[in-house]
Amino acid sequence: MAVKRRTSQDVLLSTALENFYNAAEEMGLEDDLVEILSRSERRVCVSIPVEMDDGSVRVFDGYRVVHSSALGPAKGGIRFHPQVSIDETEALAFMMTWKCSLAGIPYGGGKGGVCCEPLELSLKEKERITRTFAARIEPFVGAWTDVPAPDVNTGAQEMVWFMDTISKIRGQLEPAVFTGKPVPLWGSKGRNAATGLGVATCALELLRVLGKDPKDTTVAVQGFGNVGSFTAKFLHDAGVKVVAICDITGTYYCKDGIDVNKAMEHTQKNPKRLLEGYTQPGLEKSDPNDLLYLDVDVLLPCAMEGAINKSNADKVKAKHIVEGANGPLTPEADEILRPKGIYIVPDFLANSGGVIGSYFEWCQNLAGFFWSEEEYNQRLTSIMKSNFQRVWEYSKEKKVEMRRAAFMVAIKRVADAVKMRGVFL
Ligand code: NAD
Repeated sequence: MAVKRRTSQDVLLSTALENFYNAAEEMGLEDDLVEILSRSERRVCVSIPVEMDDGSVRVFDGYRVVHSSALGPAKGGIRFHPQVSIDETEALAFMMTWKCSLAGIPYGGGKGGVCCEPLELSLKEKERITRTFAARIEPFVGAWTDVPAPDVNTGAQEMVWFMDTISKIRGQLEPAVFTGKPVPLWGSKGRNAATGLGVATCALELLRVLGKDPKDTTVAVQGFGNVGSFTAKFLHDAGVKVVAICDITGTYYCKDGIDVNKAMEHTQKNPKRLLEGYTQPGLEKSDPNDLLYLDVDVLLPCAMEGAINKSNADKVKAKHIVEGANGPLTPEADEILRPKGIYIVPDFLANSGGVIGSYFEWCQNLAGFFWSEEEYNQRLTSIMKSNFQRVWEYSKEKKVEMRRAAFMVAIKRVADAVKMRGVFL
């Protein structure tokens, strides 16, 4: 490749660029396309002056990046965090381009963020930051340009403030500009469980292609928050034996299988949504990390980044891994596990149910017509199955592992769109 590689001081952006260049090289992607796709279409930096509760004024930095809109409007969350920077935001926008492309939905990749510490802000201060940020990025967001969503430290309430501010500025209701809204305000039924349903569907597809009966399969699910609990529930409902679940309070193991619905009822009653105090016959409790080393058919890390890394990867005994969290395996862990013949279903395939669910919300908002939860789940399952199948077949055809295959499938779809649309005059 004759292209001069772009670099960054930011670890996340330099990794995103390196991953892209390496896959592009392996695919033999033309230099012009490499040049185009290694840059973002738009990097917007805004200042956000806000009157604090004590009457003082603070100015926060906000960002919105569109990496690519070749396939459709950009899609990606907005996070509120003290470490948010323009380069980190760009790295996350890159990843959204590949995730949306792989998901087969008509979206490009974007991301946004405000550099702030939400723990130090009152609800009113958070609202003022959200609304001023919305006003500052208003020229750049829209149902057919860039569609933000929740991310770290933002949720349904922030999306309502965003939607309301943009609607007031434009003098008309704009529900399709943001996804992740609450059900009574143009949100959609099914979104809460969407990521977990997608992860579970990928795990069931993996069992299917390996010729394994779900009823003769054991799994362990790390994390019992939004992603982990619904992943465990859908696998349990499909007849899989979930022998262990865990959260920060410990690993909960039962060789005859955890009663996942009962465990979910338990966490719903706990103010912090924790498993602490959960009990059932035959249950053994131990350290949270113990779950990662169980001898199960499929391990599903659904808690956090870097859970399996170079210090513990050699202890993993699971036959296969489906990544529910973002980046639960570090590249070093990948190197250690791959030679063992373990299939690893990568995060941006396995947890794409969330963004596919956002796409469903956008479709319903544009049509002004809402689907039932059954319809939502049925469409999601069917898309996840065909996406899994595409990556599985491509990895067999090209003789590469699933993560690399997924990356190549994703890059190819965006590159083809750029080629078809052409370089502007
Ligand atoms: P969450 O906060 O609802 O749940 C996280 C769970 O992990 C909690 O049960 C917590 O106790 C547990 N946990 C944290 N540290 C742990 C540790 N050291 N050991 C064991 N358990 C631990 O978060 P979530 O929304 O379920 O997200 C989980 C992961 O999935 C994150 O990486 C997130 O970025 C990713 N993700 C989430 C979505 C979504 O729709 N929520 C979509 C795509 C990706």
